[in-house]
Amino acid sequence: MGSTPRNKLPIVISGGGIGGLACALALAQRSFSVIVCEQAPQFGQVGAGLQVAPNALSVLDALGVGQEVKQHALLIERMLMMDGIQGTQVSDIPCGADFVARYGNPYAVAHRADVHGALLKACRATGRLIELRTDSRVIDYVQTDSRVMVMFESGEHLHAAALLGADGIRSNIRRKMLDDGDPKAVGAVIYRALVPASAMPHALQMPYPTLWTGPGAHLIYYPVRDWKEFNVGATVVKPVAGVEEGEASAEEAMQAFEGWTDVPMSVLRLSPSYQRYVIRHRDPVENWSDGRVTLLGDAAHPMVQYIAQGAAMAMEDAICLAQEADLHDDDFPSAFRSYQSIRIVRSARVQLSSLMLDRIYHASGVERLVRNSIFVDRTPTEYYDRLDWVFAPPSYVRDWRSRK
Ligand SMILES: Cc1cc2nc3c(=O)[nH]c(=O)nc-3n(C[C@H](O)[C@H](O)[C@H](O)COP(=O)(O)OP(=O)(O)OC[C@H]3O[C@@H](n4cnc5c(N)ncnc54)[C@H](O)[C@@H]3O)c2cc1C
Repeated sequence: MGSTPRNKLPIVISGGGIGGLACALALAQRSFSVIVCEQAPQFGQVGAGLQVAPNALSVLDALGVGQEVKQHALLIERMLMMDGIQGTQVSDIPCGADFVARYGNPYAVAHRADVHGALLKACRATGRLIELRTDSRVIDYVQTDSRVMVMFESGEHLHAAALLGADGIRSNIRRKMLDDGDPKAVGAVIYRALVPASAMPHALQMPYPTLWTGPGAHLIYYPVRDWKEFNVGATVVKPVAGVEEGEASAEEAMQAFEGWTDVPMSVLRLSPSYQRYVIRHRDPVENWSDGRVTLLGDAAHPMVQYIAQGAAMAMEDAICLAQEADLHDDDFPSAFRSYQSIRIVRSARVQLSSLMLDRIYHASGVERLVRNSIFVDRTPTEYYDRLDWVFAPPSYVRDWRSRK
């Protein structure tokens, strides 16, 4: 990466989350100068766990931060799904040597801040190609044939060669570009907490995520931060009109799990309170670019979290976008059209697949029994065959370093 920028005006990225920082790093690795504008007073991610699938680890490897993330993450042995009513195993997908050989990477679970922190550290180490600004809330833009004027809540503005909206599910850039309203509540909430590992019963301290599924709810828990804490997330399907985000009691989180086998309840009791979050998404769209302005990550394709791929998709976007900017020799409108045409089908498939998991995870009655009967007999290879499309890294990720 040369430190002389190829662009006279900077590329502005609105949003310094995982997607925005990954994109800044990828663009800098192709010698573009970038300004990342984050609305918060500091860069960071509020605490919760993150599943980092092999395709996400492949992006982190490509960007040169894979080792750093893996050092603090747990490389899981398996993915285990249990039936919350019967207490029996529904599926067990081994994530050992065969899995790694197939996808080029293991499956990890991490603290969100460890992934974001590794990207931030790499951005800071990049030198003058990446400028990181806080307290910079982008509210609007106007563009001409040759530049974009980016407007801030503070009243300031910046001239940019291009503007990237990495500003999350409530993106201001998307509102200006597509004007398609607020993201839709899907009729479910998630209760999240971090529990000290010392409180977790020894028998439940497993080196992998355990997923309990049942009618109208599911629960997942796994260790983070070098086994110091367990990330606990309980998703409950329920009407959300009038439901506010914020702190909720353990009793509220446990309601949907009454009548289940003992383990889910005993895990939920470990935290006195939870953070309640209303789950939202958007339907896939056919366009998320406007001349020199484009979107990435949750701003472009927000999804329900059931498939645990939102951050992975944001990071894949980042590499693809930087590759197209490089290949189109700074012709940003063409680069962005090409980027979105490469990314839309894959990200939309993940959005739609994630929604479909609602039916699988939350099945009741005979449908639940049918699910169990299908899953229980599948071999690891049969699972791997079905996961290829999402876990195998796309060519632009695989070839990123060799194309430099
Ligand atoms: C409960 C839950 C669990 C999840 N679990 C997983 C998982 O296990 N694995 C996985 O891959 N994904 C998971 N996801 C999805 C993942 O969190 C998101 O897809 C990912 O964080 C998207 O990254 P992003 O950078 O696009 O957006 P964000 O992470 O939302 O970052 C956007 C950034 O932009 C800033 N910003 C917003 N507006 C402005 C503005 N106007 N100006 C400047 N800055 C602005 C914000 O402050 C923020 O820093 C989960 C999501 C949820 C809700």
